[in-house]
Amino acid sequence: MKDLSSEEESILEAAEYLRKGELVAFPTETVYGLGGDGLSSEACRKIFETKGRPADNPLILHISNIEELSQLVKEIPDEAGKIMEHLWPGPLTLVFKAKDSIPKVVTAGGDTVAVRMPSHPIALSLIEKLGKPIAAPSANISGRPSPTKAYDVYEDLKGKIPMILDGGESRIGIESTVLDLTEKPFKILRPGYFDQEDLRPYAGLVLFDPGLIQEGAVPKSPGQKYKHYAPKAEVYCYRGEKNARVERIREKLLYWKKLGFRTGVLAFSENFDLYSADERLSLGSEKSYIVMAHVLFQHLREMDRRKVQIVLVEGAEEKGLGVGIMNRLRKSSKGRVEDL
Ligand code: AMP
Ligand code: MG
Repeated sequence: MKDLSSEEESILEAAEYLRKGELVAFPTETVYGLGGDGLSSEACRKIFETKGRPADNPLILHISNIEELSQLVKEIPDEAGKIMEHLWPGPLTLVFKAKDSIPKVVTAGGDTVAVRMPSHPIALSLIEKLGKPIAAPSANISGRPSPTKAYDVYEDLKGKIPMILDGGESRIGIESTVLDLTEKPFKILRPGYFDQEDLRPYAGLVLFDPGLIQEGAVPKSPGQKYKHYAPKAEVYCYRGEKNARVERIREKLLYWKKLGFRTGVLAFSENFDLYSADERLSLGSEKSYIVMAHVLFQHLREMDRRKVQIVLVEGAEEKGLGVGIMNRLRKSSKGRVEDL
């Protein structure tokens, strides 16, 4: 049985660390966060150092109450009320014009700030107990797959932070959608759990940041330009028509095996038995990508633990949640995505 009093005590202890300027990792419904006092430049600098995060990649501030927003942002567009009412708390980050009082290290020197209200009860309770916004990027070493379990955080950050709050597996498994509200039409800077259709009733028609979709355009979310989400193994992704995809993966498995590499496949349950890799992990049914989002990062990490060198992954169709998933997989695979 869950011991509520000890969970409460752990959150209090974590809030105490944050108050002293230390960092703690905590669960959210998207992925685990590496949190620091969001109004302390020093704590936020520590976040960059601990993760090895490039200094020009701004941090998201996490709040537990909509009232806290007005202390962080210069203006709140009319539509924001409806968006927040329906989609917060949840996997949606909103970008506003930042108040001058926000530490420059949070905004990476820019004039906007990204804010999210997570729905995970431990995250909300931690923010409430600190009484201030928590700056928190994903709790991994920069470039690695995001952590969706306390153990993933431990693997990357052991010895570097005093505490990891364990909230079990992150329900969603990929990061929030980042929506820029500073210009109309509003733009998705990073695809995530909520897609264009989820946002439309509250935000109207939203577009993708040209930097996400146009070759050569600079993304407005600096995080989008970096190497990301990559396990130690080399990842190759195959998407498109099912038979061609299965055939190509089977062919590639033989190729890598012949060369003596240890192979792994991440496959939809419908095709799982068709592959004879050294290690196989399921992405759930290809009829819905909810399971795929939930397991993608943890399976990439698991393949490393199983000493797999080459991971072949069945890709998603780029619509709905598939857009966010393929955004992650394109980075994990360093762009090695073959359309069939
Ligand atoms: P992570 O913290 O690892 O989940 O990444 C946060 C994402 O939000 C990164 O892609 C950042 O570049 C992006 N981000 C944070 N703050 C801003 C901002 N003010 N404007 C645009 N993108 C932002
Ligand atoms: Mg991250």
